Amino acid sequence: MKEISYQVQGSAAQPYNITISLSGTNLKCICDCPAGSMGTHCKHWMSVFEGKKQKYIGLDDSQINEIKSWLPGSDLEEAWIELEEIKKQEAEIKKEIATKKKVVLQKFKSVMKK
Ligand SMILES: [Zn+2]
Repeated sequence: MKEISYQVQGSAAQPYNITISLSGTNLKCICDCPAGSMGTHCKHWMSVFEGKKQKYIGLDDSQINEIKSWLPGSDLEEAWIELEEIKKQEAEIKKEIATKKKVVLQKFKSVMKK
């Protein structure tokens, strides 16, 4: 079993404690922030896989890369890929909404001029 523990300085005074472990194909992420304690996902471990910056304490780049290397082949991989795919679609939909809003606004303005 491989395990890496680190802390993230969030908005609270005390940093959160995160442990990510890989046992066989079982990838586990534990965080003691309010969301993590309730058993829901939180940015304190998700950000490592997403490559997003957090105020990490006791976690260097080589450890981040090691944790990321645990994802392929793990029981989390498929769900993670699906999540990334749907997030891409979300970004595209948001762009489309912005475009459509502009069209609506232009039409609205032309109506007001009359
Ligand atoms: Zn957390």
